[in-house]
Amino acid sequence: MFLNSVSSGWKANAPNTRGIYSNPNIIMALDDVVKTTITGPRIEEAMYRTLRWIDRCIAAHKRPHDQNLFGIVQGGLDPVLRDICVRGLVDRNLPGYAIGGLAGGEDKDSFWRVVAQCTATLPEDKPRYVMGVGYPLDIVVCSALGADMYDCVYPTRTARFGTALVPEGVLKLKHRAMAEDTRPIDPTCACMVCKNYTRAYIHSLVTKDAMGSQLLSFHNLYYMMQLSKNLHSSIVQGKFPEFVCNFLQKMFPKGDIPEWVCNAMEVAEIDISSCCAPFRYIQATKVQSNLNEDEIQAV
Ligand SMILES: [Zn+2]
Repeated sequence: MFLNSVSSGWKANAPNTRGIYSNPNIIMALDDVVKTTITGPRIEEAMYRTLRWIDRCIAAHKRPHDQNLFGIVQGGLDPVLRDICVRGLVDRNLPGYAIGGLAGGEDKDSFWRVVAQCTATLPEDKPRYVMGVGYPLDIVVCSALGADMYDCVYPTRTARFGTALVPEGVLKLKHRAMAEDTRPIDPTCACMVCKNYTRAYIHSLVTKDAMGSQLLSFHNLYYMMQLSKNLHSSIVQGKFPEFVCNFLQKMFPKGDIPEWVCNAMEVAEIDISSCCAPFRYIQATKVQSNLNEDEIQAV
């Protein structure tokens, strides 16, 4: 779990040596999760069931002094249902809140709008946790919208497919071009893997056995921890907008930032115009996508 919260100062407990969280200080309420891509009365039913279950969880909770019970906002992509759920949970005055039922195949514009709606109403002085997120870009966007915490299998799952997370996006270590590449995965990364192994060596592993994915998992988790740490300190130092621009510039050096990111940043009131390509360039890229870069710039 990644924690960016400046409001709470909490730290999630670490697992014991067997990887078991024997004494968690955050526990999640039961919720009825429905895929966001379905519509109809099932979404409403799940939302009201989730609200009924929070009362049963509160009643059954024996250690509220040292275990923080988080409620989970459901309601699919319906703003009215999300609003009922958020207000219902806030009325219960819980120590933290999660936004659930996202990252399940919905389009990105719907995704960030639900996050923005929930964080706008959930209390600012309580941790706000977006469940199942996510990609580095999603974490940066949700943090801009006011979210504090995340969890996701992505860094280790993508490692098993031979993919490394780097500031520019992703690096596919199975690709033939890696076979002769003697650079580390990410020359700017200080992790054990980047200090000791070349892309070529990891390429030779990932195309054969599991050891390569373990090294990639190590690097990817280190990348996520650094991202989270840097994001957190930029907020503390009042430099979060600069952090966002820096992050976007590296990931989208041509300035072709996805429209949903631009829309979300507008709502978050973060000016990213310095890292966006001029309008004309984006239009040219869309229309003339078969031209090479020099030709596009000349359009
Ligand atoms: Zn590394």
